[in-house]
Amino acid sequence: MVLPKTRGIGMTSQRTRDRMVAGLREQGIRDEAVLGAMAAVPRHIFIEEALASRAYEDTALPIGFEQTISQPFIVARMLEALRGGSALGKVLEIGTGCGYQAALLARLATEVYSVERIAGLLEKARGNLRPLRLSNLRLVHDDGTEGLPEAAPFDGIVVAAATPEIPRVLLQQLARGGRMIVPVGTDDQALCLIERTATGLTEKWLDAVRFVPLRGGRQ
Ligand code: SAH
Repeated sequence: MVLPKTRGIGMTSQRTRDRMVAGLREQGIRDEAVLGAMAAVPRHIFIEEALASRAYEDTALPIGFEQTISQPFIVARMLEALRGGSALGKVLEIGTGCGYQAALLARLATEVYSVERIAGLLEKARGNLRPLRLSNLRLVHDDGTEGLPEAAPFDGIVVAAATPEIPRVLLQQLARGGRMIVPVGTDDQALCLIERTATGLTEKWLDAVRFVPLRGGRQ
């Protein structure tokens, strides 16, 4: 019998994924919606076959084009912060990479736009995501530094690459009550959560992180 690749066996099985989720819980992730999505989305299909057995380790892994898929704990932290305990409407992700976080977002939000500047990576992501049939996810080949004005405003914005400063342009595309999570810094980086409240913007600093830099232009 040939198993569909999404099901996985051994180190890529549901049991391995459940263990990853148990580890995230132990590290303090509390949001059941996020934990549920991470238990459901097969991370191994986003990673090259040679590394697939390491897909559920709590580590970042290379995805080609000098980019990496983030460590599961950081992905969980970002999604938990973005949700802030409530359901997400329209969300923008900048930096599709292999598409893993986009797949999670598609389970957590009504509508997702994910922008990637490297065409080859976006094609890979498209292939990875195809078997999951996520009809509420749109992939866009573009430079995300200017956001996606044609689809704005967003209830949530996730930036998956580091910026030296909080990107002000993106804040303009945040709806009232919306939240943005972004790794800020060059050598020393930290996750920053910004919320647009009725009275203005609030900002909160979370974990220290290490992300690849956000770069301008398409390739
Ligand atoms: N969320 C991804 C991880 C992405 S790594 C995942 O789950 O795999 C960061 C990604 O951001 C890389 O793919 C990089 O090419 C992309 N990126 C960097 N600068 C960008 C920009 N200006 N616009 C869009 N994507 C960008």
